[in-house]
Amino acid sequence: MRGVAEDPSAPDTARSGVEQLGRSLASGPGREDSLRHLRVLPRRPAVVAPWPEWAHPDVVAAYRRRGVTELWRHQAVAAEAAREGQHVVISTGTASGKSLAYQLPALTTTLERRGARGERGASTLYISPTKALAQDQLASIAALGLRIRVTTHDGDSSYEERDWTREHGEYILTNPDMLHRSLLPRHERWSGLFRSLDLVVVDECHHYRGVFGAHVAQVLRRLRRVCAFHGSDPTFVLASATVGNPAEHAGRLTGLDVMAVSRDDAPRGEVALALWEPRFTSFRGENGAPVRRAASSESADLLADLVSGGVRTLAFVRSRRAAEQVAITAARLLAEVDPDLAGRVAGYRGGYLPEERREIEQALRSGDLLGLAATNALELGIDVAGLDAVLVAGFPGTRAAWWQQVGRAGRNAGDALAVLVARDDPLDTYLVHHPEALLDRAVEQTVFDPANPYVVGPHLCAAAQEVPIRETEVAMFGPQARELLDELTVAGRLRRRAGGWYWTHAEPASALTDIRSGSGRPFSLVESETGRVIGTVDGSSAHSTAHAGAVYVHRGDTWLVRSLDLDDRVAMIERCDVDYSTTARELTQIAISRELDHRDWGDARLAFGLVDVTHRVVSYLRRRQPSGEVIEEVRLDLPEQNLTTQAVWWTLGDDQLAETGLLPVDLPGAAHAAEHCSIGLLPLFATCDRWDIGGVSTAHHADTGRLTVFVYDGHPGGAGISARGFQVARDWLTATRETIRVCDCPDGCPSCVQSPKCGNQNHPLDKAGAVTLLDVLVSAAPGRP
Ligand SMILES: [Zn+2]
Ligand SMILES: [Zn+2]
Repeated sequence: MRGVAEDPSAPDTARSGVEQLGRSLASGPGREDSLRHLRVLPRRPAVVAPWPEWAHPDVVAAYRRRGVTELWRHQAVAAEAAREGQHVVISTGTASGKSLAYQLPALTTTLERRGARGERGASTLYISPTKALAQDQLASIAALGLRIRVTTHDGDSSYEERDWTREHGEYILTNPDMLHRSLLPRHERWSGLFRSLDLVVVDECHHYRGVFGAHVAQVLRRLRRVCAFHGSDPTFVLASATVGNPAEHAGRLTGLDVMAVSRDDAPRGEVALALWEPRFTSFRGENGAPVRRAASSESADLLADLVSGGVRTLAFVRSRRAAEQVAITAARLLAEVDPDLAGRVAGYRGGYLPEERREIEQALRSGDLLGLAATNALELGIDVAGLDAVLVAGFPGTRAAWWQQVGRAGRNAGDALAVLVARDDPLDTYLVHHPEALLDRAVEQTVFDPANPYVVGPHLCAAAQEVPIRETEVAMFGPQARELLDELTVAGRLRRRAGGWYWTHAEPASALTDIRSGSGRPFSLVESETGRVIGTVDGSSAHSTAHAGAVYVHRGDTWLVRSLDLDDRVAMIERCDVDYSTTARELTQIAISRELDHRDWGDARLAFGLVDVTHRVVSYLRRRQPSGEVIEEVRLDLPEQNLTTQAVWWTLGDDQLAETGLLPVDLPGAAHAAEHCSIGLLPLFATCDRWDIGGVSTAHHADTGRLTVFVYDGHPGGAGISARGFQVARDWLTATRETIRVCDCPDGCPSCVQSPKCGNQNHPLDKAGAVTLLDVLVSAAPGRP
């Protein structure tokens, strides 16, 4: 990492060369208006620090051999904290050498405390969200050439490997799933490891958000209890992409006081950031709406342009299929110019072995490969340091992920170009028209609710099985834990005795929950040809993503769902290569069960609380890809589903409605349009996907007696998304109004008020009426307009 970062022989691109490069993209025919914004970030010099005195000489020598001669300051600060037993989260950019910050204290302590005959004295547990990342970490530590007993412990490990790890492992690489299912429930067999545990590394911790974040927070609390039981008190080091609230996020994940190191002292070249909005195409979408060119098609064009100029470019797209399409299209365009260039563009299929990934990295670094189209999965498997430009086809969901992808460009801390190519949806539209929202605002707060009772309940059972829960420990599981323990006792799950709460059943309590599935018992995805289980899908989203006829993208691969068995919770799927995608549409009703908080904005009211949602998937649309053109709508016959969750909602008073001048007949369409766009924008404020949330709008709701728009969390108990919406309502709803107002379409389109999952065929929708309603609402909010 560090070794290549300051290569003095790196060519020094002329100042604002990357700015010119960005502008040159817009010079093609029909592209004049597509470049909505171009910003150049200045160079940032490195700030260095010496090796700490306590660092083990063998470890320092190993890093020096790799070319790391001194540290960047953020590495030194974080390593120092960990060495002193201070829990720390390091939240800096891509390629800023985060792993050195925890490896240095971890490897030093391991070597220092090792017994005279090589017995394990101190150990490190490294936890990552994916196996691929653990493999990379394994390779990187092994390459240091130190005699550290480093090993992975995951679902692929053999019995022999597990035995060896248990007896001898000093640096163990695992994942939250293995902790939950294997290491913690069988902690007594692993007592030697837990007793010696000195450092716990939680890598890529920004992945732990939403319901998954809530699960991992509980797993880490269980880990702390098990360590305490075995007499150890490890220091936690968390590594994260840049997030808005690293200390708070890490604190909620671990339940500990965590110090944040978030100033990035690694050097960076000049970076030009371009925001790109594809033009409208000639064909018409639903209800005659104009439709923009697909982000992936546009990215293929831009990729070809950049590659033909010799610019090493990576295009990030949604699925492997899209990656292949983009690579093929770009190669075809290049062949028209220079047949030699066509062979220097590839699609990254994923699922590669580490050696194959290294080959791709090498080809990019050497320039044999000039263009690569890849899914975001690449974020977790390949270290590309040899790029001049990145194309991001569609906002990747969070500003944190955007900056992470931007960080991929900039060879040898050299200059770089990054282009966001907008998809045809409200969020992307807002961002390309409001560059400050993408480029100037702090990266988002990571959202999850560690106290979600649906998540906490099963983990209390698992914790009780591991070590009976004593009264003094209850608080660490959240404010509702006591109430939950009483409920679990009444239900016969747990037994209360003088010493605390006990699990007295034969089956493993960890089987009560699947930490990867948001909620409900998950559905299995089974390959029909082989009977092999490919993966699982959330109980709460199976109806909308795994219905018969659905095209399902799983880890970048495209599958077609043949049938969905609701009783056995199985979807039969097969690999497919179709030129369309599917989106389910659903109808929803909502009832307020308890208002938890509210704010009056004049006569308008904003509220947050518990709701009962009844929803039913009624049909799905087949859309041609990549254009998005609707081929047909297919009816589905699926039963209603009920969901108890959290929601945020707003209402307007009758006087305010009168003031808008809207006729009663206009109100349903205006509220409906505002609802759709607000769902599209909430992911900008609460780290989530638009598919994680739903909405309902009505000109008159029985529970409020007024015009009401609801946005609810799609997971039982809520994932903290609507709670965040309530907190930031004014900014969120202002952005919603702006998105609708600036969209160039006449009467509503997918970039503003049309929603792909609307069960009412996007009807009625009143674009202008929505702006009017939101104007009244937002102008009643206190504070700045
Ligand atoms: Zn529009
Ligand atoms: Zn709708």
